[in-house]
Amino acid sequence: MTRFNIRKRDGLARTGIFQTDTLTVKSPVALTTESLFPGPDTPVGSNLPLCASSALVNQFRPENNVQPVTIHPQLDNPAQSGDCVMVANWHTAFSNPKNYVDWLIGLKEKTPVDTAWFAPGSALPSNVHVLCYSGFDLFDFRAVDLKTAQRLFCTPEGEFPAEALGSGICTCTGCQMKNLYLHNRQALLHEIALVTRFIEEYQVRDLVESRCRLNAVHVAIMRLLDNQYRFMERHIPIARSCVMRANSGESLQRAEVRRFADRVINQYCPPKTDVAVLLPCSAKKPYSLSQSHRKFQRAIAGRAHELIVTSPLGLVPRELECIYPAGHYDVPVTGYWDAEECAVISSILTRYFKRHAYRRIIAHLEGGALKVAQMAAEQCGFTLEYSCQDHPTSDSALNALDSSLAGERRIKDDRLHGMISYQFNIDLDTKGTTLRGHYPELFYSKNNAQIFSIDTGTGLLRPTFDGWQLIPEGYRVYIDDFIPEGDVLAPGIVKADPGIRDGDEVLVIGPRAHATGRAALPMDDIQRLRRGVAVRVRKIKRL
Ligand SMILES: [Zn+2]
Repeated sequence: MTRFNIRKRDGLARTGIFQTDTLTVKSPVALTTESLFPGPDTPVGSNLPLCASSALVNQFRPENNVQPVTIHPQLDNPAQSGDCVMVANWHTAFSNPKNYVDWLIGLKEKTPVDTAWFAPGSALPSNVHVLCYSGFDLFDFRAVDLKTAQRLFCTPEGEFPAEALGSGICTCTGCQMKNLYLHNRQALLHEIALVTRFIEEYQVRDLVESRCRLNAVHVAIMRLLDNQYRFMERHIPIARSCVMRANSGESLQRAEVRRFADRVINQYCPPKTDVAVLLPCSAKKPYSLSQSHRKFQRAIAGRAHELIVTSPLGLVPRELECIYPAGHYDVPVTGYWDAEECAVISSILTRYFKRHAYRRIIAHLEGGALKVAQMAAEQCGFTLEYSCQDHPTSDSALNALDSSLAGERRIKDDRLHGMISYQFNIDLDTKGTTLRGHYPELFYSKNNAQIFSIDTGTGLLRPTFDGWQLIPEGYRVYIDDFIPEGDVLAPGIVKADPGIRDGDEVLVIGPRAHATGRAALPMDDIQRLRRGVAVRVRKIKRL
């Protein structure tokens, strides 16, 4: 009997607790295979090549009812929730990144979610970040022991000849004792501990982006996974409260970045005005708290819709500036935008302005952001006005911005309308809502009843029961005939809107109770899951 409880998820990566009859371990982890699965080794069919044909795999079908359960790209899923599943020879997948990603997605799609994934003979300090990022949990020491036999010194940055042992690169006890075997094993454990830390901080992607640079295959795997947007998007939480480091070109392809742009273009409803000002971003987030944006807002004085042009997100309407990742990203600021950045971001602006027409679009921009706005104007066929001859925060530029808006009417500041359309895909009439609190900690009420608060960590709206009445559909989780005590667990769920992502605000509906809360996993996983928290409950209402 084995069990696997997922604790934290960050994309495909996760931390968890894996239990057998004799052992309980926190994952990700490396162990000796004998301690994981004592007993005779290598059951039939457990060592087939990944590229083996369906005919071959079916001729040597793995034994059932033994742990670990062998899974294979050509085999129907034999595993159940709680099993340890093993993908034999996974180290060979590194020789072809395209196959790696195809096999991984195929296997992930058909295997129960709450299974512990074991990649025997694969983990090295230099690749374990990719393995964890791909959703593997359990490792052994065979790959590092093989490196020891080959007289190679393992580090997260790669393998070196064994003389490196005494060179001061590492000072672990293995190195102190000049024991290569011990160093290599400790280096793997050390790297797994580091990856675990990044998963717990919801920043494993940032680590992978930095670690992968020394290995072309790892970069290729990350990029090919990004190309599988539909698959990756489902696994990425809707919001986090930590910094998103957008320090590489690949940031443009991150699922959360693409999802933000898609929602701004397709779900977000702009305020009723036909004048827009395009503004540069600020290093400080949310932008409103920066000196430069205070100056912009003073000059604009509510007479235009404020749209921030920024990389990698594209376009951030002022109302969405606190929402993840708009309120959380960090980019290296040089003023220079490369060709790919310009192409991706200008296409976001183009798609937005094709959908939302403005009578006047004023570019209060310089450098790369200005170039991108010009590219979009050309694509859409609108004429851009310019209010900025030199630096956007200079007095002359701010005066020009102010006078360009002379005679334009003030528009109503309606953050709630913008945020609710972005988050719940509805065009809500916000007439009669009132606001209290201090930015960004805000509360919205209607008829003296609170309807929404704002999660200052993620920037998302948190509906109350009254708030949910304004959201007619979606984001519902239906539970069995019970009153939740604390969080709702996966087995208690009867059905759920499959569009719900990890981190989405949800309304729990059951015959005996309703509850508000936040989804702890993507709801299309529910069918393939037996254990674990599905909704972190905030409030319960007995019926
Ligand atoms: Zn060492």
